[in-house]
Amino acid sequence: MAVERKEPQTTPVFLYPPVPRRAFVISLVALVVAGLGSLVWPDRLRDAAGLAWLLALIPPFLFAYYRGWGGAAAGLAAAMVVLIGFQIFATLVLGRPVDWRVAAGTSGLFAAVSFGAGVSTELLHRQAFMAIQLAYADPLTGLGNRRVLEFFLERQVAAAARGLPLSVVMFDLDDFKSYNDRFGHAAGDEALQAFGRTLSSSTRGSDLSGRFGGEEFVTVLPATKLEGGVEFAERVRRHFRTMEFDTGARMTVSAGVAAYGPETADSESLIEAADATMYEAKRLGRDRVLDAVSAGKTRGRTPPSIRTSRPPA
Ligand code: GH3
Ligand code: MG
Ligand code: MG
Repeated sequence: MAVERKEPQTTPVFLYPPVPRRAFVISLVALVVAGLGSLVWPDRLRDAAGLAWLLALIPPFLFAYYRGWGGAAAGLAAAMVVLIGFQIFATLVLGRPVDWRVAAGTSGLFAAVSFGAGVSTELLHRQAFMAIQLAYADPLTGLGNRRVLEFFLERQVAAAARGLPLSVVMFDLDDFKSYNDRFGHAAGDEALQAFGRTLSSSTRGSDLSGRFGGEEFVTVLPATKLEGGVEFAERVRRHFRTMEFDTGARMTVSAGVAAYGPETADSESLIEAADATMYEAKRLGRDRVLDAVSAGKTRGRTPPSIRTSRPPA
């Protein structure tokens, strides 16, 4: 199977809070009603139309709200309430007709201020987002980096200490240095990207895969026992070894799987167990998945469902 040529994976680790489609629909309806009320029937529906233009404030409010711009969204909502209250007071209680120049001027000014604030907030949002990407994403594969993995794992270890299963897989590409030496660094990078794609397409939404460093990748599998971790790693290993790169070569991967147990002191010791197990898999001949119990890297009993010998590809 030839490796699909794709751009580096750019799936961001952290995304903006998305603006749901219903917000766009509501905004559109609000703008249409505001336009009709204010422009088409200014004489026949004078009082109602006097309030209708205020609906034009809904889109900036919704945009600000869904972008997580909470304070400004609250401010806009408060301003809408004050303006609507003022209009109701002026038209119904005092019986004064709506002054269209004041209404149009106020809404124009208000929309301009909202728009300006929205644009500058969006720019700040983007900068903060890029800073987060730089800090937590691996630029080559688009996966999370070691920092994200450690952050996630620490929290999962805390959950495991309260009784939930947890397993960790350490992957390391086999003979990667000689592949680099033979085909060049750029070809090596493409192989890393291909493995990153294999890994992320096999990783469930509740699990986290990332690049730990160099040609080492880690997957954290919450609520997963050792057997489940081995099954996952085996699936990734089998898929990866079928890939043929542009260079015409293929590559294999070795993996070590460790699960949280009574002897696990912290997240670091779990990673160390998976790492030591992975090195044992290398020592046994590479292109295989080994679990920490069988490798003697942790205390415990090997579950009967785990096969420690290299299965046929
Ligand atoms: P083993 O099967 O025992 O894992 O052998 P190996 O050759 O894969 O292991 P080794 O640790 O000796 O080599 C890792 C190589 O990975 C060395 C380094 O140059 C290369 N490498 C690390 N990061 C990158 C990268 O971002 N791009 C490329 N192309 N190569 C990298
Ligand atoms: Mg290595
Ligand atoms: Mg290697």
